[in-house]
Amino acid sequence: MKRFFERLFKGTKEAFVEILKDHLLNEKRMFLITANPEAFMLGKSDPEMEKMLLDEEVTMAADAIGLVKGGKIVGIHLPERIPGVELAQSLLAYGHEYHKSIFLLGAKQEVIDALCAVIREKYPNLTICGAVNGYVGDKDAVFEDMKKVEPDIVLVALGMPAQEKLIYKHFRDFRKGIFVGVGGSFDVLSGMKQRAPEFFIKHNLEWFYRIASEPSRFKRFYNGNVKFLFALRKER
Ligand code: UDP
Repeated sequence: MKRFFERLFKGTKEAFVEILKDHLLNEKRMFLITANPEAFMLGKSDPEMEKMLLDEEVTMAADAIGLVKGGKIVGIHLPERIPGVELAQSLLAYGHEYHKSIFLLGAKQEVIDALCAVIREKYPNLTICGAVNGYVGDKDAVFEDMKKVEPDIVLVALGMPAQEKLIYKHFRDFRKGIFVGVGGSFDVLSGMKQRAPEFFIKHNLEWFYRIASEPSRFKRFYNGNVKFLFALRKER
């Protein structure tokens, strides 16, 4: 898995936000994976995921503390985690500041409606050029519509790896746009769900809070993280 680690952005969150800003201002295309241990574990067994994680055209940031810790095992220093939800928030803020456009795909209809209301109120200069819930049948057709409107920001919230696979299939057909798979971020950005309290975030325990409040996440956590650390040790 070391080769996946090598592809991660190795600077701070602040430095990464500057890169996002530069891409947005200069209309450079980017597909960003906000990676976690589950993604790297999938990369070991799923050839499509493996290809994506190794693709030079794909940008990767470490969303999870498990990757920061795992980096230590394989000798790759990552200064901090770069939470995807915060990057999504920065994109909304810069999108507003620079009068850009956004396309939203994913989550339930009520969540996406609430998120659009938040954007109209808090980020009025950010134009919503599409907002489609994540339960429509033909998501490739949504991307075909998206190609016609050329958004500056595309957030896809379908969960990993569906969101990444969908973006990977289409993003080269766009001239510009920052494409990010944002998982459960719409639930948070729309105000429908709370992020972990500050204490948990500050002490890198957001993962613990998420499992404690949604125990159904435990199996995924175990498979992605506990097995991940064992696999890394074995590789070393
Ligand atoms: N989702 C969706 N369509 C689906 C399955 C899931 O739009 O077919 C949405 C779901 O409503 C949620 C998000 O995808 O908003 C996944 O969130 P989760 O917290 O599981 O993702 P994570 O951040 O853990 O990858």
